[in-house]
Amino acid sequence: MKKILSKNIIKNNLHIILLCLVLILGGASITAYNAFKKSQIQQVKKVLDNVYLLKSAKTIFDSLDPRFQNITYKVKSGENFDNILKKLSISNKERKVVIENLSKNKNLLKIYEGQKINFLIDRSSPSKIMEITFFMTKTNSLIVTRKENENIFDTKKIEKDLKKNIIYEESKIINSLYASAVKKNIPTGLIIDFARIYGFEIDFQRDIWKNDSFQILYESYMNDQSETLDYGNILFANLVLQGREYPLYYFSNNNFSDHYDERGQSIKKTLMKTPINGARLSSSFGMRKHPILGFNKMHRGTDFAAPLGTPIMASGDGKVVKASWCGGGGNCIKIKHNSTYSTVYAHLSKFARGIKKGVRVKQGSIIGFVGSTGMSTGPHLHYEVIKNGKKINSQTLKLPSGKTLKGDERKKFEITKININVLKSEVINKKG
Ligand SMILES: [Zn+2]
Repeated sequence: MKKILSKNIIKNNLHIILLCLVLILGGASITAYNAFKKSQIQQVKKVLDNVYLLKSAKTIFDSLDPRFQNITYKVKSGENFDNILKKLSISNKERKVVIENLSKNKNLLKIYEGQKINFLIDRSSPSKIMEITFFMTKTNSLIVTRKENENIFDTKKIEKDLKKNIIYEESKIINSLYASAVKKNIPTGLIIDFARIYGFEIDFQRDIWKNDSFQILYESYMNDQSETLDYGNILFANLVLQGREYPLYYFSNNNFSDHYDERGQSIKKTLMKTPINGARLSSSFGMRKHPILGFNKMHRGTDFAAPLGTPIMASGDGKVVKASWCGGGGNCIKIKHNSTYSTVYAHLSKFARGIKKGVRVKQGSIIGFVGSTGMSTGPHLHYEVIKNGKKINSQTLKLPSGKTLKGDERKKFEITKININVLKSEVINKKG
């Protein structure tokens, strides 16, 4: 009797019991959500401490103030000015206005591969070009400025009269490569170049220890007040990691330029270890508790936590064989590099322009952007390396090296190496 009664109580009050359950669950999920958010902020803070501070910070600040955008564009082979404006999402009408104005000065539309052009864009709709700076030579630039609320542009020639200097710096790495290099007044763009050169070989999150050190010899362009306004190539770089040295020399030929070790071997590898800048390795290859499914599962990739929208690079030259939705992996890309290696990039927020099945990509080119699509707890890149159809650990993988200089090239490289070493001693002696 009692039993039946209590059953009836439950039956009669079922809706109240259910409501209580919903409230309890709701409260728990809000708490869980807050904890999740906190860990996200922590993640972004950690990324900001990274060597690539500037780049990450820039992405974040850009997204905070979307009205004006300042973009420095490097012209790629085969591009014309209209292509570039299209890539910057400028409307047909506005492109016509800009090109009509620029064609008054014929030389401006004759752009060349590698030329730098700076755009100031007002993104209040529709997007308007406010100012374009054409860097003609190291010392000359032309600034084209829009007259307020008009479709007319003024052109002004700027001569910077810069002097080329060779600078040598060396330092112990105290907190991070970035912090130590900034202390030595090394331009931030150059620090990023330095990190990129070593990016194939060194994991800046794990391989750098306290009191490791670096040396750098680079070209700097200064005005008559000895302020560095621009920089050129890194002629020599060295990283000393726990007593082991990694010296690299800049060598340029008619067709290519790159950094080589003392034996004339390029540090570039067929695949990159970390196809993303400013990221932190957040989950390695191997057994782990799945963050969503909750049970132990083999993780057959490497996760890199990075802010939403961080660009992802093609880890090697190859052909895109997939660029679409793939379920748990969200938006994902698969690249086939050769008959042995393929790579996969998952959870992307979006694909880069022009990335689709069948397209060929170059190592280091941007293929997409970090997101949290598919089965994912927060913005990160899930990266897989597939060797002969089998998923392998990208972080312990020993990869075939890049180009080795031979014959005449090797002879020229040996001379370049001596010249750079002499130049380096001269600059060091002058510093005293
Ligand atoms: Zn993963």
